[in-house]
Amino acid sequence: GMPAAPPPTLAERRKTRQIKVGKVLVGGDAPVSVQSMTTTPTTDVNATLQQIAELTATGCDIVRVAVPSQDDADALPIIAQKSKIPVIADIHFQPKYVFAAIEAGCAAVRVNPGNIRKFDDQVKEIAQAATDAGVSIRIGVNAGSLDPRLLQKYGKPTAEALVESALWEASLFEEHDFRDFKISVKHHDPVVMVRAYELLSEQCDYPLHLGVTEAGPAFQGTIKSSVAFGALLAKGIGDTIRVSLSAPPVEEVKVGIKILESLNLRPRKLEIVSCPSCGRAQVDVYKLADEVTAGLEGMEVPLRVAVMGCVVNGPGEAREADLGVASGNGKGQIFVRGEVVKTVPESQIVETLIDEAMRISEEMKLA
Ligand code: SF4
Repeated sequence: GMPAAPPPTLAERRKTRQIKVGKVLVGGDAPVSVQSMTTTPTTDVNATLQQIAELTATGCDIVRVAVPSQDDADALPIIAQKSKIPVIADIHFQPKYVFAAIEAGCAAVRVNPGNIRKFDDQVKEIAQAATDAGVSIRIGVNAGSLDPRLLQKYGKPTAEALVESALWEASLFEEHDFRDFKISVKHHDPVVMVRAYELLSEQCDYPLHLGVTEAGPAFQGTIKSSVAFGALLAKGIGDTIRVSLSAPPVEEVKVGIKILESLNLRPRKLEIVSCPSCGRAQVDVYKLADEVTAGLEGMEVPLRVAVMGCVVNGPGEAREADLGVASGNGKGQIFVRGEVVKTVPESQIVETLIDEAMRISEEMKLA
């Protein structure tokens, strides 16, 4: 048959230069990638690799590790070698760790050349070493660590200040003909952050790494990041994303993936379409939705499963789903593509849905 048309997105992706972060391409027509950062001490190689494995299993594309000391730099070769996804070394000041990370086989380095120039101008050597090794760089401008010169000029880390800082940092690499970098301009306020990325995207074609810093605990951070990334991605701005949460990094990846799936920037997998419940509900919709979600976790096929609290609107609302249930009178009507295929007692709804989901997913895999 005809190949299915890709699902619509809200905007064409902005045209950016493409860079390589190991095997992952960032920018150009590459899919928007999801990043996270380990929370283990990088010196604890086993714990770090364990966390990277969990992130990888969750769907993380790229992982960053902090390199604040020589011991951390010494741990990089084995981490870079054993990780199944590209590793970015996060370095603040010391050029020697940048060289160590490149030597260690890291796919990329996050470092601001402005910081390095302050201490010891090795920007040219870094550009050369990165080019020779095929390593890319992220220039990460952050409201919290903005250049004092710009802080003075603008009074506070405004969007304009973040952008001026980023373009200045970029120019330090451009002076040495190095352009394999992406840029971030992070701020904790989504309004300032969105404005900064909009301005930056008008002034350069480097790929952009989106992030809201210090976004907060999971609930607030999820909302801040979703709103900010959504506003930018809806205009085609953003090539790779990192959701920052005061929560385990696996949670960041789940949120990042859902943001991309919501905008059709990544193929959707399992999607639970559950009703909010209302006075008509004849079943505990929250519990049923949770049980169905838990029972189907890890499904690899794109399946929409509707969980509806009553038979009044349930069937209609469930029609667009692959599979669904509408409950009433202690029973559940099970729908497959809008048709009632069976009616089961309430106690068997979850297992019946799981069985049907497995059957449909087998069919999808064969198709
Ligand atoms: Fe209310 Fe039924 Fe709609 Fe759920 S499906 S919100 S219970 S009318």
